[in-house]
Amino acid sequence: MTQDEAKVALLAQREELDAQDASNADSTDVVELQQDSVGRLSRMDALQQQAMAQAQSRRREAERMRIAAALERLEEDEWGHCLNCGQEIAEKRLRHDPSVPLCVTCASGSQ
Ligand SMILES: [Zn+2]
Repeated sequence: MTQDEAKVALLAQREELDAQDASNADSTDVVELQQDSVGRLSRMDALQQQAMAQAQSRRREAERMRIAAALERLEEDEWGHCLNCGQEIAEKRLRHDPSVPLCVTCASGSQ
């Protein structure tokens, strides 16, 4: 995988996150509209949905930071190397997720 390919893939990932954020904002609005007119159970459902939406939003935020960090490594010509041990990250692993910061050895060792 070339750096150009990685950059294209990372930018596409970021756009996908933006799209998810936009549709998520819509569903949060719907939840708020319903809250006044529904009973306690539905309200709990709504709150649960909102909590889930917030958790997903936080996950997306973490993902976004990973992508930003990977783009930064591309700029500095350090992309494709493990942040922990400096070894090259396997091609297959990078293809699966170009924002991945660790080689498979370090990733499995830290979990
Ligand atoms: Zn490593």
